[in-house]
Amino acid sequence: MPFSLPELKYPHSALEPHIDTRTMEIHHGKHHAAYTTNLNNAIKDTPMDSMPIEEILMTLDMGNAAVRNNGGGYYNHNLFWELLSPNGGGEPSDELARAINDQMGGFAAFKDKFSLAGMGRFGSGWAWLNVYPGGKLEIASTPNQDNPLMPGVGGGMPVLALDVWEHAYYLHYQNRRADYIQAFFNVLNWDEANRRFNRFK
Ligand code: MN
Repeated sequence: MPFSLPELKYPHSALEPHIDTRTMEIHHGKHHAAYTTNLNNAIKDTPMDSMPIEEILMTLDMGNAAVRNNGGGYYNHNLFWELLSPNGGGEPSDELARAINDQMGGFAAFKDKFSLAGMGRFGSGWAWLNVYPGGKLEIASTPNQDNPLMPGVGGGMPVLALDVWEHAYYLHYQNRRADYIQAFFNVLNWDEANRRFNRFK
């Protein structure tokens, strides 16, 4: 099987009180694990079983629901865990801070717009901050496990990813998605976001 569930770089309890231990255990150990297993089953004995996940997503037949849903789920959660940290929060720095200030009218305006993208996603999906070659930033959202790498979805590369599926917050926050989004900003790993911005700009 080509893909495996990544270990977290921090304990499941490390993001308390912002993201609770039980949610992390189920989200990583059950949901992400299932996307991984189902992706491996879906690409078995196809040309995709020797491709990196990015190539699978960028060349995806969007009619292939099993790979679209599980390949998206596998990649999106890999990214999400990297963008969280017990030492997170605060504001971006360096190049990403300058780009947000220049293009989005400052950090507060950016945070409002990104939060609205997460709030406005009806049902299950993700909010994104994407960067295009040349450094242009874009806030977007996608349904289900779609992501900006997939054909016809966007074209930029994700700098930030926010899971707004109910499984990401319902145990602790119930229907209060806005509170969960605020909590996300308290554990957001801006160092990783800045690295991604510099890699893909
Ligand atoms: Mn999720």
